[in-house]
Amino acid sequence: MEFLSLRKSFTGLVLLFCLSSLSSPAGSDDVFAIGTMKIPPGEMRSGYLPVPEKDGIRTSVPFTVIHGSRKGKVLALVAGVHGYEYPPILALYRLRKMINPDSLAGTLIMIHVANLPAFQKRIIYYNPYDWKNLNRVFPGDPQGTISQRIAYVLKEEVIKKCDYLIDLHCGDGNEALIPYAYWMIKGDQEIDKVSKEMLLAFGLKYIIIDKTRSKDISHSKYLGNTAILLSKPAITTESGYLGKTDEISIVRNVKGILNVMKLFKMIEGEAEFIPEPVWIEPYEVIYSNHDGLFYPLTKMGYHVAKGEKVGYITDYLGEVKEEVRAPFSGIILYIVYTPPISQGEPLFEVGKAKPLSK
Ligand SMILES: [Zn+2]
Repeated sequence: MEFLSLRKSFTGLVLLFCLSSLSSPAGSDDVFAIGTMKIPPGEMRSGYLPVPEKDGIRTSVPFTVIHGSRKGKVLALVAGVHGYEYPPILALYRLRKMINPDSLAGTLIMIHVANLPAFQKRIIYYNPYDWKNLNRVFPGDPQGTISQRIAYVLKEEVIKKCDYLIDLHCGDGNEALIPYAYWMIKGDQEIDKVSKEMLLAFGLKYIIIDKTRSKDISHSKYLGNTAILLSKPAITTESGYLGKTDEISIVRNVKGILNVMKLFKMIEGEAEFIPEPVWIEPYEVIYSNHDGLFYPLTKMGYHVAKGEKVGYITDYLGEVKEEVRAPFSGIILYIVYTPPISQGEPLFEVGKAKPLSK
């Protein structure tokens, strides 16, 4: 029921786009270049960014650029950095049909599936050719493995060409996850302020205050962090879970993106900000010390007390090898909810809600 009414209101929004008059028209020579493509104002184009071949392995990155007929900001939307995270991917295909370039101010870059090999092979976390996590290898390397080369292409063709970036994630195929987002703190007042506004506009209730990311661009690791270190305000969002394609998670992504577009005056309408965000600090990911099977004893969104048993791990013969406990009292942001577990992989993430959430 909830999503049906939301869909109706989106239809209304699409009509509104056609009526908008938001900023001055772009000049006819104001082309937007990406890869080998040059896109004039008022046009939408889709294609593939090639990721160069090495050792017989290559891929490409499917994208759409909607270059508005009016001048404005460039917002990059990246889905599918993890290939088993479907709601953001589906949200961008939906958004692609909703935005009219004639009434758009600025430019949208949509990366539909950043990690195409992982999507094709239905692999969580990793790329099946190098078994690296794309969201741990930024800023990438043009001479590196396939994940490093994808990261490099995304840095050159997406991050460097945008003003703002949203890295759209969700619970991976094995992760039960409540919607939340990361506010990656750079320590630059203006960039942190804009990133915060993007988070409040995107509208996910739980927001992790994350001061842990490297400030060294050569070890930026994450797509969003790389954008921030290149002075592009950016957020990482999580909406969706366990490999599902549920409508509510898809709509939450679409709605969040449209509201960020309003924030940057790309489409008509006033951005709405989430009235009562819950700020999370600190947070911690707990990793497995064993290979085997994980048995969770709590659920996503549940509160756990410090020391509470959150789950246990058995070996492949059914013998308990490890009991897993909460390092501090907090909320379960995600928890692995399928049996396989390997040493060094995440089991769950817990975060402490800060009082006075403003
Ligand atoms: Zn992800």
